Amino acid sequence: MKFLATILDRDGTIIRHVPYLADPIQVELLDNACLGISALRKLTPIVVVCSNQSAIGRGYCSRDDVLSVNFRMNELLEKNSSYVDEIIFCPHAPEENCECRKPRPGMGVQVAKHFGIPTEQMVVIGDMESDVEFARSLGALSVIIRNDPGTMESSESKADIVATDLLDAAIKIEHL
Ligand SMILES: [Mg+2]
Ligand SMILES: [Zn+2]
Repeated sequence: MKFLATILDRDGTIIRHVPYLADPIQVELLDNACLGISALRKLTPIVVVCSNQSAIGRGYCSRDDVLSVNFRMNELLEKNSSYVDEIIFCPHAPEENCECRKPRPGMGVQVAKHFGIPTEQMVVIGDMESDVEFARSLGALSVIIRNDPGTMESSESKADIVATDLLDAAIKIEHL
């Protein structure tokens, strides 16, 4: 199977999960994030981040706060010779019932339209079961990152692939 795009979650997948992260100083890349993204870039020509940022809709932070966090993440990736093509996010609170909040497929459909590729040829990588559901709703391959030893063995995942970090994910996708 040839995949054309990778869709990455942001919090808990590329950077350390901080609830309602709004301060760029708190941005910290997870282990193997840069190496993993570089390896994924060799497997799929497009790598895009799709992130739920309900902190905006809930009034905990502004759109500019999220943009400054994204900017900082990009800076850290570029320092390590890696990058993503685009970062899109859903700013809505759950009760707004939008079409873009994961696990709804909206952001994935947007990426598919923008790059002219079928959603079935996407790989979705995230750290939550809702990312797996998001992948399912797109007909994409699902990969869950289990970087928290506490949850590593305790819960089952419906994901096609379970990986410890983004590099492990890339290796497992390559060997499918
Ligand atoms: Mg996450
Ligand atoms: Zn939304």
